[in-house]
Amino acid sequence: MPYDHESIPPTPITSVPSDQFLKTGSWRTFRPVIDRDKCIKCFICWKFCPDVSVRVKDEDSYPEIDYEFCKGCGICARECPKDAIDMVLEV
Ligand code: SF4
Ligand code: SF4
Repeated sequence: MPYDHESIPPTPITSVPSDQFLKTGSWRTFRPVIDRDKCIKCFICWKFCPDVSVRVKDEDSYPEIDYEFCKGCGICARECPKDAIDMVLEV
């Protein structure tokens, strides 16, 4: 099942992604990196990202970070139940 902005359940996030305004990836100091060996595809990271920067194609695919818009807030890493997201210093 494809996911889109309308299918997000009620959560404390914006309903409008930054891509409708400006690319915010340059704000980032740390970038989230998903370890697929640990990821169980629960998509909690997708649910909690406040800027809709975790992309999910379908239930069988791993989530991917859209680095053009991810601000590096670290919420996804904090909420991941498998500790599968590392926040890595940008170089
Ligand atoms: S929250 Fe963690 S385990 Fe769940 S889909 Fe995201 S990276 Fe994978
Ligand atoms: S670091 Fe923040 S903005 Fe980037 S994907 Fe994770 S929750 Fe979203």
